[in-house]
Amino acid sequence: MSPSTSPSPNAISSPRPFTYANGRLTCSGADLTELAERFGTPLYVYSADAIRERVAMLQTEFSTVPHTICYAVKANSSLAILKLLGELGCGFDIVSGGELERVRRADPAALSRVVFSGVGKQIWEIDAALNADILLFNVESEAELELLATRAQALSKTARIALRVNPDVFAETHPYISTGLREHKFGIAIERAREVYRRAVQLPGIDPAGVSVHIGSQIRAVEPFAESLKRVRSLVEELRSDGLKIRFVDGGGGFGIEYGTAAFDPAARVAEYAAAIRMVLNGLDAHLLLEPGRFLVAQAGALLTRVLYTKQNGTKHFVITDAAMNDLIRPALYHAHHEILPVIADGRPSQTADIVGPVCETGDFFARDRLTPELRSGDLAVLLDAGAYGMSLASHYNTRVHPAEVLIEAGHPRLIRRRETLDDLLAAELL
Ligand SMILES: *Cc1c(COP(=O)(O)O)cnc(C)c1O
Repeated sequence: MSPSTSPSPNAISSPRPFTYANGRLTCSGADLTELAERFGTPLYVYSADAIRERVAMLQTEFSTVPHTICYAVKANSSLAILKLLGELGCGFDIVSGGELERVRRADPAALSRVVFSGVGKQIWEIDAALNADILLFNVESEAELELLATRAQALSKTARIALRVNPDVFAETHPYISTGLREHKFGIAIERAREVYRRAVQLPGIDPAGVSVHIGSQIRAVEPFAESLKRVRSLVEELRSDGLKIRFVDGGGGFGIEYGTAAFDPAARVAEYAAAIRMVLNGLDAHLLLEPGRFLVAQAGALLTRVLYTKQNGTKHFVITDAAMNDLIRPALYHAHHEILPVIADGRPSQTADIVGPVCETGDFFARDRLTPELRSGDLAVLLDAGAYGMSLASHYNTRVHPAEVLIEAGHPRLIRRRETLDDLLAAELL
């Protein structure tokens, strides 16, 4: 195979900051071989520029609409990434008291731009969010509404709330990350919402300020977003006719990317998404909140790994990497596809292999029967599009420490999380 058939930079570079320079893979100007030598592997590598670019795409397309981008912290909750997003003016969508604490440490000034989602908020979490004077509670049940009113009164606070309504809209995505159907645990059925708002108005400590919706994750079509916001708009109009001062519409997150090799122009897709939303909400006079997670960070990051061994079992060829499902669980959890590239493109012949980690689970694979340039022991490879739901879903399974993380700023790597030690990992345990 000639060098020209090694991964084509153009085929992969456009939505991603990972490109070849003289046959060596780089991330926004930083050489990945050097990063592996300096910081070790497995290593999460993120491009700050790529994250900035995605934020700018959304800000541009929604510039004519009063809006706040509330980045969904659970997609990638590293403090340095939160700080970067806070500096760009983003707010945050949190789903726990732990995530609230992350925002406080990364950018305390951004607490006023926090929305708090989640079906199981506990008292300590509600209290922490009330004391932080967050922007909005996305309330997911009547019981939660009653508890929130009690806590707000106890702390002499007023909680701005939106009910998270379930619009019963189907969005084509993996069943584990679809949330907008009546059968899902999320939100309050939209037909019941008006009645629950009536109750909210009566509750002391509660300011019914918005309506919120989130239909799922990794949704690539625009129609489900438009359809659910159409239903939200009708509800807002009804509530206003009931005398409520609804100021916020929270459209949720879930805007997807392309993980494979299909052409993907994020700016064009954002333009299409934003146009549809602007049209549905035209003239409504509400402050729009958006909760993107994956779209902002997934393609800015990759997991850098070294090949430990290769072996042949019957007809199967295996490439065993030092990264595993505990570092990046998406393939095991969702059968997710991640493109895999060699860090050195030297024109080697391609080979079909299962690319797997060392964890003792058959589900510990990154790819099955994948054609890549041959990977040999000692080689480096990257799993692309690992910036979202990668590190944030990492576990210690098999007593493996978490990977380190670096953020590339203006071509220079900055360690934003050192590699854990076994002492870190075992620190909370008692004998
Ligand atoms: C997970 C989640 C998001 C972010 O989803 P993405 O697919 O990463 O954009 C936004 N809002 C809520 C309520 C969520 O649960």
